[in-house]
Amino acid sequence: MLAYWLGRYGFDVTVIERSASLRLGGQNIDVNGPARKIIRMMGLEDEVRAANTTEIGTQFVNADNEAEATFSKDDPNGLTQELEILRGDLVSILYEASRNTADYRFSDYITELTQDDEGVDVTFNSGKTERFDLVIAADGIRSKTRKLMVGDEPVFNYLGMCTAYLTIPKGPTDTNWARWYTADDSRVILLRPDNKGTTRASFNFLLPQDAFDKLSPADHKPLLKQRINGAGWEAPRLAKEFDTNDDIYFDGVGQIKAPRWSVGRLAMVGDAAYCPAPVTGKGTTLAMVGAYVLAGELATHERYQDAFTSYEKRLRPYVESVQKLPPGVPWIVYPKSKIGVFVLNKAFALAASDAAKKIMSFFSKKDDKHADEEAEFDLPDYAGQAV
Ligand SMILES: Cc1cc2nc3c(=O)[nH]c(=O)nc-3n(C[C@H](O)[C@H](O)[C@H](O)COP(=O)(O)OP(=O)(O)OC[C@H]3O[C@@H](n4cnc5c(N)ncnc54)[C@H](O)[C@@H]3O)c2cc1C
Repeated sequence: MLAYWLGRYGFDVTVIERSASLRLGGQNIDVNGPARKIIRMMGLEDEVRAANTTEIGTQFVNADNEAEATFSKDDPNGLTQELEILRGDLVSILYEASRNTADYRFSDYITELTQDDEGVDVTFNSGKTERFDLVIAADGIRSKTRKLMVGDEPVFNYLGMCTAYLTIPKGPTDTNWARWYTADDSRVILLRPDNKGTTRASFNFLLPQDAFDKLSPADHKPLLKQRINGAGWEAPRLAKEFDTNDDIYFDGVGQIKAPRWSVGRLAMVGDAAYCPAPVTGKGTTLAMVGAYVLAGELATHERYQDAFTSYEKRLRPYVESVQKLPPGVPWIVYPKSKIGVFVLNKAFALAASDAAKKIMSFFSKKDDKHADEEAEFDLPDYAGQAV
C-alpha cells in the first residue's frame, strides 16, 4: 500500500521482503471504514469485491452445532463485513497495483542502518550496502527493522490470549456461514468459508502472561493439542489437523505501542508501529490508512522531518482510539465454566433477536453503508500530488 502511493506521487521506491516470494498466508481479513475508501481511490474496489470469501454471516453455535444466534452480513452487530477477503488475495492485488512503480526484492532483509544528514546507509543480509534517502519499517508485528531503528522502545502489550490459524479441507458441516463455537475453559473455535474450496480455521484461548513468556516454537503444537482436548463440537477435527498440518500460524495476541514512529530519516508504518491486535478487526485498515497518510504527507512536505511529524500528529488519535479496547475484551467472550458459555450464548441470542435488531437499526446508519468511512477517520485529500 505504501509502495503504491509513494509510486503514484513519483517517489523512487525499493521494497525489501524477507520471504522468497509474496507471503500469501493468513486468513479472512476485512477492508473497512476509511480503508474501503482508499481501495476505491486506487480503483481496486471491484477487484477486492470479486475476491470475496463468500461468507454470508456468522452463526454462534453450541456443541450440537445448533445456531444459538445468527448475524447476517448486513447486520451491523455481525462479524462479517462487506469486503471480506483472504489476506493472500489482498496481498496479490496490492502487489500487482504497485509492482510497476516499485523495485521489489525478495529473500533479503536489513541488518544495519546508519543515518547522517544526507541519507541512510543500509546493509542487507545479502552483504550489499546501499544508500537511501529514507527507510520505512513495514515488516509486521515482530518487526526486526523497527528494532534496528528504535531498539526496544516500542512495547508488545500481550492481551492474555493466543491464536492459531490454519487452512483445513472443507467438511460436510461447513457452509457459507462463519461458525463461532465457545467452549468452556476459555476456548473459542472459529471456522470460516473461503473462495478456494477450503475452510479457514482458528483456535483461540486464554493463556496467562507467565505461561506465554515461557513458550518456544517447539511448544506450540503440544500446547494446541492439550488446550483443544475435550472442547467438544468439531474439536477432534482440529486436533487431527494439529497433528498433520505443517502450516499453522501461532502467536500471542497483543498490541504494539510505540512512543514515536520515526527517528531522523527512519520511520515505521502498519503493525510494526501500531498493531491494534486482531480482536479489534482493524489491523489491515489501520495499516492501509497509515500507509496512505505517510505517503501523502511525504508528498506534501518539502522536509521529511515535517512529513513524519504531520503523519504522527494526524494518525495517532485514530490509532489510540482503535487500540482502546472496551472493558473486559477479550476475556468476556472466553468464559471459564459451562454456565458461563450458556450465559454468553444467550447474550448473543439476545443481541441477534428481532427486538435487539429493531433497537440497533434505530441507532445505526444502515441507509448510508459508507458512513463509517468519514466518521472513523477523515482521510486527507492528497489528490493534487499524483504524477
Ligand atoms: C503470514 C501472515 C499471516 C497473517 N494472518 C492474519 C490473519 O489470518 N488474520 C489477521 O487479522 N491478520 C493476519 N496477519 C496480520 C495482518 O496481515 C496485519 O495485521 C495487517 O495486514 C497489517 O499489515 P502489515 O503490512 O503492517 O504487516 P504484515 O501483514 O505482517 O506484513 C509484514 C511483511 O513483512 C515481511 N517481513 C517480516 N520481517 C521482515 C524483515 N525483517 N525484512 C523484510 N521483510 C520482512 C513479512 O514476510 C510480511 O510480508 C498475518 C500476517 C502474516 C505475515
